[in-house]
Parts: sequence; C-alpha cells; structure tokens
Amino acid sequence: MTSLICPHCKGYSTFSVVWADTTTYAKSGGESLYDSASRCNNPECKRVIGSWVKPDKEQIVDYWPRKVGGKEFLDVPEHIASTADEAHLCMSVGAHRGAIALARAVVEATAKHHGIEKGMLDKKIVEMAKQGVISDAMKDAADEIRFAGNEVAHADLAEEPITAADAEDVLELMDAVLTRVYQEPAQVARVRARRQERKGEQS
Ligand SMILES: [Zn+2]
Repeated sequence: MTSLICPHCKGYSTFSVVWADTTTYAKSGGESLYDSASRCNNPECKRVIGSWVKPDKEQIVDYWPRKVGGKEFLDVPEHIASTADEAHLCMSVGAHRGAIALARAVVEATAKHHGIEKGMLDKKIVEMAKQGVISDAMKDAADEIRFAGNEVAHADLAEEPITAADAEDVLELMDAVLTRVYQEPAQVARVRARRQERKGEQS
C-alpha cells in the first residue's frame, strides 16, 4: 500500500486501489502501469484519486489531482471559514466569478458574526469600521470585495470579463480581512497566554 499526502483531506494517508484497468496501460521505464482509482484510507475522507499503479497494484507510481485548491482558516468561525475555503476552491478550477461571489459572502458573514445585520453590505461595512471590527485600510479592502461582487452579480455579459488576476486580488483582500479580524487576535491571545503561563501569572 502506498502512503501519500491526500489532495482532498491533506492528510498523510494510505491508499487502497479500488479499481484498475489491466487492459490499457502506460509505459514507464520499461514497466507497464495500469490506469486505476485509489481510495484514501482516512475514515473522515474516503475520497478517490486517479492513479497509475504497478502490476501488483501495491504501489502508486503517479496520481492526480496533485492538489485540490482551498485553504484552511483555523481561527475563523466554521461557517465563514468554509465559505472562504470554497472561494479558493473555485479559484483553483478557474471559476473566478464564483470565487468573487463567495468572497463577498464572506465579508457579509463577518459583519453578521459581529451582530451587524441591518442594511445593505455597504452600510454593514461602514458599521464594522465604526465599531472597530476593521481598520480603515480593511474597510477599503472590504469595499473593493463588495464592488467586485456586485460586478459579478449584475454584470452585463458583454462587459469586460473578470480575469483570473482580478479574482486573485479579490481573494487576497478577503484573506487579509479574515487575518486581521480573526487570525491575528487569536494568535496574540495564544502568545500572551503562553507568556503568562511561563511567568506563572494568574491573568
Ligand atoms: Zn484523504
């Protein structure tokens, strides 16, 4: 059995060959390799990859996809993190408009998570800045994500299409907002807690 980093669950896992086509094969270094499908043995995953295996079907020589897009956001609330992850997943398969629409949803969900529920997204972003949830720089970032999201939602199909580079910029802004709002404060809290632990402080 072969162990490799699973492109789906990102864990180091063994894979079992669940199917192999022994009638067609690729040649590699004078050896026949069968087209096959292999399943990740992580019980939480169990997803399948395409692979080339040696005739004994014990060893995976090559496999695909190598990488499935997506991104982990550890200190971000689950429902927001999964939406942000999906935005990156869209990006990895070239679904730029989907990526941008989801980035906009992430900004909206961040506002709601801070109890800001009233008004359209522009009002929510202003309110987040006013309450100090986001800085002025991050307010500008959130506004650009909102503009891009509006463009995607309402654009005339004849207009200039959003490019991969545009979408990538928008996702970078989304990541920056999540880093400032959730990840950095959580990291500061961890560092502080460890320092206080070392000093044996109570608070
Ligand atoms: Zn897996």
